[in-house]
Amino acid sequence: MMMKAAKIRWIVIAVLAAAMAGCATSGINKGDINLITSSEEVAMGQEFAAEIETQFEVYDDPQLTVYVQSVGGRVAEVSHRNDIEYHFAVIRSDEMNAFALPGGYIYIYTGLMKALDNEAQLAAVLAHEVGHVTARHSTERLTAMYGAQIAVSLLLGDNPAEYKVLIANIFSTTGFLAYSRANEFEADRLGTSYTSLAGYDPEGMAELLGKFIDMESREPSKLEEWLSTHPPTRDRIGKVDVLAASLPMAGVGERNAARYAEMKKRLP
Ligand code: ZN
Repeated sequence: MMMKAAKIRWIVIAVLAAAMAGCATSGINKGDINLITSSEEVAMGQEFAAEIETQFEVYDDPQLTVYVQSVGGRVAEVSHRNDIEYHFAVIRSDEMNAFALPGGYIYIYTGLMKALDNEAQLAAVLAHEVGHVTARHSTERLTAMYGAQIAVSLLLGDNPAEYKVLIANIFSTTGFLAYSRANEFEADRLGTSYTSLAGYDPEGMAELLGKFIDMESREPSKLEEWLSTHPPTRDRIGKVDVLAASLPMAGVGERNAARYAEMKKRLP
């Protein structure tokens, strides 16, 4: 507990320093400023994950969880940021969505897993989220948009109610989960390359985006969270297609449709 409190105070100092630096300079794109260090981000992610897991239902089928962790671990291992520990978990919800918290805490919804047909597509979802983590989009956004609020909440860090309020704000308003268009394209680009490096067919990313386009016309209600936080899917699929075709594993990487079909049977 002492260690944790000390770490949290460090984050507060960093965020306050960022806010002060912002006041003292001009003409800087604040969206790119990130004064939260990697280890501070991990400590913050741990707190957020504990809170998120009280608000969402984690679908705790041990075999399914181990499977998702193994696929996610493969893409995280070949990523630009493989010196932190990644955590992958499944959330029980009919929506088609996935998200990453600071520090490598990544969640995929059962509704999205049901819509996929092979492991290359699952790897693509997880790799896109790993891309947000490696590019550190969340702490860039936190530094830029919630700096003062985070500082206040973390100063009261021994009060879990403050974390609850902060998380509720982050998830209900624009900002944290709604990364910029540039962030989304960057996560697509990084994620697509990670799938190929991990030995998966990178076409899985375009197939994944195709699933979202299908669902947009068939059951848009399952995409409310996704559509409110991502740029139009058609804009993304073209870019991903061109990139995937240029990667070494295009058309020859693992797809593992049979294994995925077996795992899908475990979904609620
Ligand atoms: Zn994203």
